[in-house]
Amino acid sequence: MMEIQITCSNCGSGIEVIPEHHAHSVDCHICKHVTPVNFTHQHEEGILKECPVCSRQDFYKQKDFNRKIGVVLFVIAAILSIWTYGLSLVALYLVDLLLFKRLSMVAICYKCQTNFRQVKNMAELPDFDHEMNDRIVYSDHDFKGKPLSH
Ligand SMILES: [Zn+2]
Ligand SMILES: [Zn+2]
Repeated sequence: MMEIQITCSNCGSGIEVIPEHHAHSVDCHICKHVTPVNFTHQHEEGILKECPVCSRQDFYKQKDFNRKIGVVLFVIAAILSIWTYGLSLVALYLVDLLLFKRLSMVAICYKCQTNFRQVKNMAELPDFDHEMNDRIVYSDHDFKGKPLSH
Protein backbone atom coordinates (compact mmCIF):
# COMPACT_ATOMS: atom_id res chain seq x y z
CA MET A 1 0.00 0.00 0.00
CA MET A 2 1.30 3.42 -0.94
CA GLU A 3 2.06 5.64 2.06
CA ILE A 4 1.51 9.35 1.65
CA GLN A 5 2.75 12.15 3.84
CA ILE A 6 1.11 15.47 3.18
CA THR A 7 2.74 18.68 4.37
CA CYS A 8 0.11 20.86 6.05
CA SER A 9 0.01 24.17 4.15
CA ASN A 10 -0.98 25.98 7.32
CA CYS A 11 1.51 24.77 9.94
CA GLY A 12 3.98 22.61 8.00
CA SER A 13 3.32 19.40 9.94
CA GLY A 14 3.56 16.05 8.21
CA ILE A 15 0.21 14.25 7.92
CA GLU A 16 0.32 10.51 7.19
CA VAL A 17 -2.44 9.16 4.98
CA ILE A 18 -3.26 5.95 3.19
CA PRO A 19 -4.93 6.49 -0.21
CA GLU A 20 -8.64 5.73 -0.15
CA HIS A 21 -10.73 7.02 -3.03
CA HIS A 22 -13.71 7.71 -0.75
CA ALA A 23 -11.67 10.15 1.32
CA HIS A 24 -11.95 13.73 0.06
CA SER A 25 -10.12 15.62 2.75
CA VAL A 26 -7.44 15.12 5.39
CA ASP A 27 -7.37 16.91 8.75
CA CYS A 28 -4.12 18.17 10.25
CA HIS A 29 -3.64 16.63 13.71
CA ILE A 30 -1.86 19.72 14.95
CA CYS A 31 -3.77 22.77 13.67
CA LYS A 32 -6.98 21.08 12.36
CA HIS A 33 -6.47 22.64 8.92
CA VAL A 34 -8.36 20.64 6.29
CA THR A 35 -6.50 19.67 3.10
CA PRO A 36 -8.70 18.55 0.19
CA VAL A 37 -7.42 15.40 -1.48
CA ASN A 38 -8.36 13.56 -4.64
CA PHE A 39 -7.40 9.90 -4.46
CA THR A 40 -8.01 7.62 -7.41
CA HIS A 41 -7.92 3.85 -7.88
CA GLN A 42 -4.42 4.36 -9.27
CA HIS A 43 -3.27 5.73 -5.92
CA GLU A 44 -4.91 2.79 -4.15
CA GLU A 45 -2.88 0.48 -6.37
CA GLY A 46 0.31 2.37 -5.54
CA ILE A 47 0.73 4.03 -8.92
CA LEU A 48 1.73 7.68 -8.84
CA LYS A 49 0.73 9.75 -11.89
CA GLU A 50 -1.05 12.71 -10.39
CA CYS A 51 -0.65 14.40 -7.02
CA PRO A 52 -3.76 13.86 -4.84
CA VAL A 53 -3.24 17.26 -3.19
CA CYS A 54 -2.33 19.74 -5.97
CA SER A 55 -3.14 17.52 -9.02
CA ARG A 56 0.26 18.22 -10.60
CA GLN A 57 2.17 15.44 -12.37
CA ASP A 58 5.71 16.51 -11.62
CA PHE A 59 7.55 14.39 -9.06
CA TYR A 60 11.13 13.51 -8.27
CA LYS A 61 12.54 10.58 -6.38
CA GLN A 62 15.28 10.55 -3.80
CA LYS A 63 16.82 8.18 -1.28
CA ASP A 64 14.65 7.85 1.77
CA PHE A 65 17.39 7.82 4.34
CA ASN A 66 16.18 7.95 7.90
CA ARG A 67 18.72 10.24 9.52
CA LYS A 68 17.87 9.36 13.11
CA ILE A 69 18.36 5.63 12.54
CA GLY A 70 21.50 6.37 10.53
CA VAL A 71 23.10 8.38 13.34
CA VAL A 72 22.24 5.76 15.98
CA LEU A 73 23.67 2.97 13.81
CA PHE A 74 26.81 4.96 13.16
CA VAL A 75 27.40 5.58 16.88
CA ILE A 76 26.88 1.88 17.68
CA ALA A 77 29.23 0.86 14.85
CA ALA A 78 31.86 3.38 15.93
CA ILE A 79 31.82 2.07 19.53
CA LEU A 80 31.93 -1.55 18.36
CA SER A 81 34.80 -0.78 15.99
CA ILE A 82 37.14 -0.54 19.01
CA TRP A 83 36.73 -4.31 19.51
CA THR A 84 36.13 -5.32 15.92
CA TYR A 85 39.09 -3.37 14.49
CA GLY A 86 36.79 -1.33 12.28
CA LEU A 87 34.84 -4.27 10.88
CA SER A 88 31.58 -2.94 12.33
CA LEU A 89 32.00 0.20 10.26
CA VAL A 90 32.41 -1.93 7.16
CA ALA A 91 29.26 -3.84 8.18
CA LEU A 92 27.42 -0.55 8.65
CA TYR A 93 28.49 0.57 5.21
CA LEU A 94 27.08 -2.63 3.70
CA VAL A 95 23.81 -2.32 5.65
CA ASP A 96 23.54 1.27 4.52
CA LEU A 97 24.19 0.26 0.94
CA LEU A 98 21.66 -2.57 0.95
CA LEU A 99 18.87 -1.16 3.09
CA PHE A 100 18.90 2.55 2.60
CA LYS A 101 20.46 3.25 -0.74
CA ARG A 102 18.83 0.56 -2.80
CA LEU A 103 15.49 -0.27 -1.27
CA SER A 104 14.12 2.92 0.17
CA MET A 105 13.13 5.62 -2.24
CA VAL A 106 10.65 8.38 -1.70
CA ALA A 107 8.79 10.31 -4.41
CA ILE A 108 8.14 13.98 -3.74
CA CYS A 109 5.77 16.42 -5.42
CA TYR A 110 7.65 19.55 -6.54
CA LYS A 111 4.64 21.78 -6.01
CA CYS A 112 3.26 20.83 -2.60
CA GLN A 113 6.07 18.70 -1.12
CA THR A 114 3.83 15.70 -0.54
CA ASN A 115 5.91 12.53 0.04
CA PHE A 116 4.99 9.15 -1.41
CA ARG A 117 6.44 5.84 -0.26
CA GLN A 118 5.91 2.29 -1.58
CA VAL A 119 5.29 3.65 -5.09
CA LYS A 120 5.07 0.86 -7.68
CA ASN A 121 6.22 3.01 -10.62
CA MET A 122 9.10 4.62 -8.66
CA ALA A 123 11.59 3.58 -11.37
CA GLU A 124 9.76 5.78 -13.92
CA LEU A 125 10.17 8.91 -11.83
CA PRO A 126 13.12 11.23 -12.52
CA ASP A 127 15.72 12.47 -10.06
CA PHE A 128 15.55 15.96 -8.60
CA ASP A 129 16.09 18.76 -11.12
CA HIS A 130 17.00 22.22 -9.85
CA GLU A 131 15.71 24.04 -12.90
CA MET A 132 12.34 22.30 -12.74
CA ASN A 133 12.11 22.98 -9.03
CA ASP A 134 12.81 26.69 -9.50
CA ARG A 135 10.32 27.03 -12.32
CA ILE A 136 7.58 25.16 -10.44
CA VAL A 137 8.13 26.78 -7.05
CA TYR A 138 8.90 30.36 -8.16
CA SER A 139 7.15 30.73 -11.53
CA ASP A 140 4.33 28.22 -10.90
CA HIS A 141 5.17 26.46 -14.16
CA ASP A 142 3.33 23.18 -14.83
CA PHE A 143 5.44 20.58 -16.67
CA LYS A 144 2.51 18.13 -16.74
CA GLY A 145 4.69 15.13 -15.96
CA LYS A 146 7.18 15.76 -18.78
CA PRO A 147 10.59 16.33 -17.20
CA LEU A 148 13.09 18.68 -18.81
CA SER A 149 15.55 16.94 -21.07
CA HIS A 150 19.05 18.33 -20.86
ZN1 LIG B 1 -1.44 21.92 10.31
ZN1 LIG C 1 1.37 18.03 -5.08
